[in-house]
Amino acid sequence: MSQPSEVPCHQVHAPGELQALCERVRKQGATVGFVPTMGALHAGHRALIDCARRNCGFLVVSIFVNPLQFGPAEDLNQYPRTWPEDVAQCKEAGVDAVFGPSVQQMYPAGAMTRVQVEQLTEPMEGRARPGHFDGVTTVVAKLFNLMGPCEAFFGRKDYQQWKVISKMVRDLNMPVTVHDHPIVRAPDGVALSSRNARLDPAQRGRARAIPAALSRAWELFERGERDTESLRQACLDRLAGHTQVDYVSLADPNDLQPASASVPDSALLAVAARVDEVRLIDNVVLGRDPHPLRPEQGHEGSS
Ligand code: AMP
Repeated sequence: MSQPSEVPCHQVHAPGELQALCERVRKQGATVGFVPTMGALHAGHRALIDCARRNCGFLVVSIFVNPLQFGPAEDLNQYPRTWPEDVAQCKEAGVDAVFGPSVQQMYPAGAMTRVQVEQLTEPMEGRARPGHFDGVTTVVAKLFNLMGPCEAFFGRKDYQQWKVISKMVRDLNMPVTVHDHPIVRAPDGVALSSRNARLDPAQRGRARAIPAALSRAWELFERGERDTESLRQACLDRLAGHTQVDYVSLADPNDLQPASASVPDSALLAVAARVDEVRLIDNVVLGRDPHPLRPEQGHEGSS
């Protein structure tokens, strides 16, 4: 494993350079790890990086705010960009290479190809953000092609994204192994997100309703509640007055199809809600994940 003090952290901007670098280290026998991000790195990203660092000989982190996955009315321009701080964090974490292409480098004029995953992309984020997943799968497919055979790490905060990418890799026979990581939360329970930086203290207080709502449903589920609408409503009641809800969905944790009237042994409960201009997502898999706010409670080893 590389040590931050001994091994340089390459800053790579040109796609061809990344490709050549990964090929070279693979020839030398290294397992290549990959953590794709949009930067403004926080402890959630860091957990993925640390996990990848432990498991791979050569580790690449990409930092690219992908315009293709933002809708016209979304926050592409407000999205935080903190390249120097991100590179410093990567160095500190022992990352071997940081890949930060420009938009021009990733999308030279004249590109005509999109990668699209069907069905899994239809509910939840796909419905709320038309075109979002086509942007995600297209950029991740391009990044995977540059990386070559690798171990890629994704957070379950973006649960649907993790499922969609896993499906794309299987369907297209990509030489990539996808690993997932549990959600990392701040001490107040809010899932870490680059967008949290845009919340003022009062808004941050309101954002706490999101993990609290998930926790309320988790507790009801543990007490035996299986009625989908009751679980959804409990969540909605807790969010009311604090956030504007985009959706609260109960779905099958594997195929993401909406839960029937009564949920079985486990169900994904996913929330998207706005605190004023800031859109946040969060989730818990009922019957599988620990309590969102008290992880020591229930379903040990589920992560
Ligand atoms: P992003 O920079 O938001 O595109 O996220 C890059 C990766 O980090 C994705 O796989 C996310 O799911 C993951 N990630 C972001 N925030 C968290 C978090 N709080 N806990 C776990 N993974 C996260």
